[in-house]
Amino acid sequence: MNECIFCKIVQGEIPSKKIYEDDKVIAFHDINPEAPVHVLIIPKQHIESANELNEENSYLVAHIFMVIKKLAKEHGIDKEGYRIVNNCGEYGGQTVPHLHFHLFGGKSFGWPPL
Ligand code: 5GP
Ligand code: ZN
Repeated sequence: MNECIFCKIVQGEIPSKKIYEDDKVIAFHDINPEAPVHVLIIPKQHIESANELNEENSYLVAHIFMVIKKLAKEHGIDKEGYRIVNNCGEYGGQTVPHLHFHLFGGKSFGWPPL
């Protein structure tokens, strides 16, 4: 039995504020937003992290970036800019072991993000 919470969101077993879906990915609002716009974009397929990407599945990342571009425009943050974040593994700060990209916008972000 798959206990992954993001797989459960994909299956509709856990509710989410979904804003985009196609055959490969879904996007939904983060439950604990850290910015005026904070959206998570995930592949429907369970891939644990960026460290599990390979020649067969990495096309999903290119697709996710196209979806991010579209969502940024829809949320009116494309002109001023935004931040895309992927946390990978323990030291990367990943808390949900299903590949996901954060789209943050609506404010100015500092650097470095340490
Ligand atoms: P990570 O730290 O793994 O990069 O990010 C995981 C993100 O998932 C966090 O920002 C957290 O708030 C979000 N999150 C965790 N559980 C849920 C959930 O059940 N629903 C939604 N919408 N977001 C979640
Ligand atoms: Zn999963």
